[in-house]
Amino acid sequence: MIFQFHPYSIILAISAFATLAVSTITWRRSAPGSLALSIMLMGMFIWGVAYAVVWAAVPLDLKTFWLKIMYFGVVIVPTLFLVFTLQITHKDNWLTFRSIVILSIEPLLILLMVWGYSNLMFASIEPAVQDGFATMSVQRGIWFLINSLYSYLIILLSLVILIVSSRNANSFFKRQYFIVLYGSIIPLILSIIAQTQYTALSQLDLAPISFGISGIVYAYAIFRHQFMDLIPIARSRLIEKMSDGVLVLDVQGRIVDINAAMENFLDASPSTFIGKNVSDALSIWNETTEHLLTGLETRTELRLSNKSPRYLDLRVTPLYDNDQRLSGRLIIFRDVTDRKEVEKDLRHAMDRLQTQLIEIGLLQSKLREQAIRDALTNLFNRRYLEETLERELARAARERYPLCIVMMDIDHFKTVNDTYGHEAGDVVLKTLANMVTAQSRQGDFVCRFGGEEFVLVMPNIGINVANERAVSLNKAISSLFVPFGRFNLNITVSMGISWFPAHGETKEDLLRTADKALYAAKNKGRNQVSVYQEPEIRTE
Ligand code: GH3
Ligand code: MG
Ligand code: MG
Repeated sequence: MIFQFHPYSIILAISAFATLAVSTITWRRSAPGSLALSIMLMGMFIWGVAYAVVWAAVPLDLKTFWLKIMYFGVVIVPTLFLVFTLQITHKDNWLTFRSIVILSIEPLLILLMVWGYSNLMFASIEPAVQDGFATMSVQRGIWFLINSLYSYLIILLSLVILIVSSRNANSFFKRQYFIVLYGSIIPLILSIIAQTQYTALSQLDLAPISFGISGIVYAYAIFRHQFMDLIPIARSRLIEKMSDGVLVLDVQGRIVDINAAMENFLDASPSTFIGKNVSDALSIWNETTEHLLTGLETRTELRLSNKSPRYLDLRVTPLYDNDQRLSGRLIIFRDVTDRKEVEKDLRHAMDRLQTQLIEIGLLQSKLREQAIRDALTNLFNRRYLEETLERELARAARERYPLCIVMMDIDHFKTVNDTYGHEAGDVVLKTLANMVTAQSRQGDFVCRFGGEEFVLVMPNIGINVANERAVSLNKAISSLFVPFGRFNLNITVSMGISWFPAHGETKEDLLRTADKALYAAKNKGRNQVSVYQEPEIRTE
């Protein structure tokens, strides 16, 4: 009989295959530490399965052979546990080529002892019988003790790293670290018990049995707590790498988490602020920060004047637990100095632009005025008359009211120029322009039509009233004296009136009939007003 049906073998095999299952699951995850965890679980599997065969085998040499196989697993587990711990606590930088070589020395030496010089490992291996089963009695050699001590030291070192890292980790990582701790602590305790009370436990090392429990704890962690899921890890990395400062406070306002970027805002290593009160930490700004901790979501802009002035955008978000109780606060610091500077420059540029726009507007209206005004008299020019008259006529037609135009021309103006000079003529033109403008009503407009010819447009006025007003204007002009040097110049004008719609419906017709009326006034002896007469009416 080569194998016996030993109950320990069954329990060990079940436990071993449980770890194998978890090992294959973790193998497929791509997260920090997943490969190391998978190999470690594989080591546990080899350990457990080989140990199961040791109990199941009957011949001593078969038991011894599988005991040696078991050591492939025994040496892998503690070393890979350290590698796994370093990776999940983001201390991968410790895993240099040199440290990996150093970590491999002891396991290789142990394998050499087991397979080459096994008497250094096991002082003696004797067959034994216990409860009717073939067992063996193993006397431990010096290297066995060295390996035990070394393994415990490695595991202890890993646990210390986990505990220290969990102090500075955020709650998510803390939970992960503790799951790893719980998963590892059971095999460790059982293994220590086995070392000290070897005989009391019927020579069964319980540690390999408990590997199954570890495997189940890790599996639970993987499925229930997204342990090793990429997203939370990526998020945590992002917070660590981002340029905004991040602070996590507990309810008392103590800093429980801080990212690397906070160094730029606090001018000191972020880790020194862990556990400090936020008000103390931020006191370097000489700013009161009490108002930040009101319990509401707030956003504040701070101007720091300690070194060169800087602007900070502070966002405080209260954090609530599942029972909606305030459990802390998240503060995000963003340096907005550059944005502020750009905004300031932009504001100045906008102000300058505004002023320039006003200047341009003024210039434009001046230009527009110049385009429609006559420079000497400041009356509207002929172009303006033609444009406006057309509009006015259209409106008069639409609203059915009459429109009168008075065309006037200075009598014997040439003589004024000839006698007193061109300058005197200009003064007369300006004075006359002012006078006609002063006499016009709202809605009328006066234009300089030609050299010494003016046109007065009077919308919405009957021909009789227009005539009366023209006559009174004519009289006023003739009694006007224009001072020029030591002279008082006196002029008269002749006026011709035509009206819409009777004397023409287009501006050309109206101007033509008014000109005809003016011509008539000149012919009748000047210094008078003449209303256009239809040729038919004048026919005798
Ligand atoms: P009438 O009674 O027939 O209108 O005689 P008039 O001399 O006024 O007529 P005419 O058309 O012969 O002369 C117009 C004069 O107006 C000729 C021109 O020198 C003068 N004139 C035109 N524009 C200006 C101006 O801007 N300034 C001055 N000083 N004179 C001007
Ligand atoms: Mg004239
Ligand atoms: Mg003339």
